[in-house]
Amino acid sequence: MSVLVRAGVWPLRAARAVIPCFWRGKYFSSGKEPAENNLVTPMLRHLIYKIKSTGPITVAEYMKEVLTNPAKGYYVHRDMLGEEGDFITSPEISQIFGELLGIWFISEWIATGKTAAFQLVELGPGRGTLSGDILRVFSQLGSVLKNCDISVHLVEVSQKLSEIQALTLTEEKVPLERDAGAPVYMKGVTKSGIPISWYRDLQDIPKGFSFYLAHEFFDVLPVHKFQKTPHGWREVLIDIDPHVSDKLRFVLAPCATPAEAFIQCDETRDHVEVCPDAGVIIQELSERIAVTGGAALIADYGHDGTKTDTFRGFCGHKLHDVLIAPGTADLTADVDFSYLRRMAQGKVASLGPVKQKTFLKNMGIDVRLKVLLDKSDEPSLRQQLLQGYDMLMNPKEMGERFNFFALLPHQRLHGRNHQINALQSEPSPSPVAGFSELVWR
Ligand code: SAH
Repeated sequence: MSVLVRAGVWPLRAARAVIPCFWRGKYFSSGKEPAENNLVTPMLRHLIYKIKSTGPITVAEYMKEVLTNPAKGYYVHRDMLGEEGDFITSPEISQIFGELLGIWFISEWIATGKTAAFQLVELGPGRGTLSGDILRVFSQLGSVLKNCDISVHLVEVSQKLSEIQALTLTEEKVPLERDAGAPVYMKGVTKSGIPISWYRDLQDIPKGFSFYLAHEFFDVLPVHKFQKTPHGWREVLIDIDPHVSDKLRFVLAPCATPAEAFIQCDETRDHVEVCPDAGVIIQELSERIAVTGGAALIADYGHDGTKTDTFRGFCGHKLHDVLIAPGTADLTADVDFSYLRRMAQGKVASLGPVKQKTFLKNMGIDVRLKVLLDKSDEPSLRQQLLQGYDMLMNPKEMGERFNFFALLPHQRLHGRNHQINALQSEPSPSPVAGFSELVWR
């Protein structure tokens, strides 16, 4: 992992003021916390009309409407990240996070034979901070990546956030091309001269050797919730409260519903959340990686098929009742990594989930922190670097709640030919960075 040795040469980025802020994985709850406000939002009115005309809706339908409805969805018209917003994420906390992920992609690019070109694809890029940090590493390691034709592809449904991403990642010296109705709805050139395009759907991204990245993306995809009852699985639905006007409540479906097909036959929990959209995306990523090569790195809070009721809301860095004032708060559910692994259907190999603190340690976070501390004489910056490190690594903060999970072509882990490997006439593939202990060469 020789690229890691060069970790010391990059500059210190401008301060990221974040602390104290809450990250979304901090709590998990059943959404029963006391309501802070009881606004009848336009989204609530829309949902009440919908339920009155077609009956109770699934939690998945509720999440989809509340978060990504093109007219009123929570994600569509606001910047919810950071101190002023509703929650904070790792790339917004520390530049080191994105830098180490940049190293991961370069390390995989080297391990898979330095292809002449690759696409960096980010799903749900927020403010574009993570891609920005990764691209800065690519520029700093320009001598390693020279002659490699890189392009950036962002999958984003939010109009507001796509504009912020464009500001972060391009200097708009080359004017952005916009076409709201097209699958590629915006195009430009990054600060370092790399072509960048925006899409609403992963399917529209050209096929080709790609590195896919999804940080805190899978947790916002809609989940169906099921409760085990004496009559079998029953889906949790959302209905209008008959006793209070303009209020929603959870109810159980009176009979079986189609999404039950997503529950495993041998499921032992009595409450489960299933996320068919996550399955569709993982299948698409697996197919692409198997056919055209590359890798996917997925980081999120979640579990390996063990947790039950994790659906929760966040507003202004506080837990928020998921049914109150819909459209004003973020909705999220823990990612079930066992389901993602199953959905890869053996087309690609998977690694993880490993805890964030383990992944970042393996990627050399301690060395990078030391380099940045040595370079900075300003006490407030040093303090911020140390606080950021603690937020990312402390088991009580994000260190153990967040996980890293990767999809890779089978040959990346097992070599091109098992028999030749066994006879040792072909070198074994190098370990995948982050998922095994860091080895200094
Ligand atoms: N990855 C960023 C932001 C996480 S918030 C970070 O870590 O800071 C979730 C992101 O996913 C936002 O950019 C949101 O607009 C986007 N998003 C939510 N649902 C989406 C969907 N269905 N398709 C594409 N992007 C989506």
